[in-house]
Amino acid sequence: MFENTTILITGGSRGIGASTAVLAASRGANVFINYRNNHDAAASVVEACRAAGGDAEALAGDVSVEADVKAMFEMCTERFGPPAVLVNNAGILHNLDRVENYTAERLHEVVNVNIVGAFLCVREAVKVMSTNHGGSGGAIVNVSSAAAYLGSPNEYVDYAATKGAMDTMTMGLAKEVADEGIRVNAVRPGLIETDIHEGDRLERLWRNIPMQRVGQPDEVAEAILFLASDASSYVNGTLLNVSGGR
Ligand code: NAP
Repeated sequence: MFENTTILITGGSRGIGASTAVLAASRGANVFINYRNNHDAAASVVEACRAAGGDAEALAGDVSVEADVKAMFEMCTERFGPPAVLVNNAGILHNLDRVENYTAERLHEVVNVNIVGAFLCVREAVKVMSTNHGGSGGAIVNVSSAAAYLGSPNEYVDYAATKGAMDTMTMGLAKEVADEGIRVNAVRPGLIETDIHEGDRLERLWRNIPMQRVGQPDEVAEAILFLASDASSYVNGTLLNVSGGR
């Protein structure tokens, strides 16, 4: 499905990004993985991608740092050719707390990574993919969250708001580049079993989910790769919930 396709995945060393990398590699993709600082995790994802039948490379970089984002696209293009797919997945959240306790530092960090970082990545992707810039088109899949419509009260309203911004960016950018060969969509995962959750959060909350279980990273990866593939060739500007019905 992805033979000779270069897929760039931000936050690909763990969780949803790592599952997407290995699944894409098993379908023939060359996967370029960005991560923040967990070198061992990134190295084992590269190994797993190669074992799965694709090729992979990883580069550390912070998506909120412009020079790091530029370097990631340059290295990816050098190694595998320009990406035809961007999975805009890197994201962070802080400890569970009420809005009245948020520090400015916390707010700056979550906005910088989840909004500014996501914008820097799609900006570079448009520059390499757009037919207006001599590119061959492509697909961008933003990894938003069910938090965008739930609001995450008493937990992380700031994080939820950044995902709301990502949804709006998805819809606006999709229209902006639709006739330049680029489709832009988002997945909105619910409660997925990864390291991002604090303490016993998954155990406390799974009963609120209509399907009565948490989701697995692979289940989100399947949805991401559907939106990245030609199987979704007429799907654009869509927000796909992957949340067990919640
Ligand atoms: P995770 O297990 O915590 O993994 C986060 C990944 O992002 C890691 O690869 C990490 O790199 C990387 N990362 C963090 N900050 C970064 C930065 N500034 N620059 C580059 N890479 C950075 O997270 P996850 O649960 O898989 O979440 C992935 C995405 O799905 C996020 O956008 C999250 O908001 C979204 N999401 C998750 C859930 C869920 O329930 N898990 C639900 C809805 C949405 P290192 O390994 O180097 O730290």
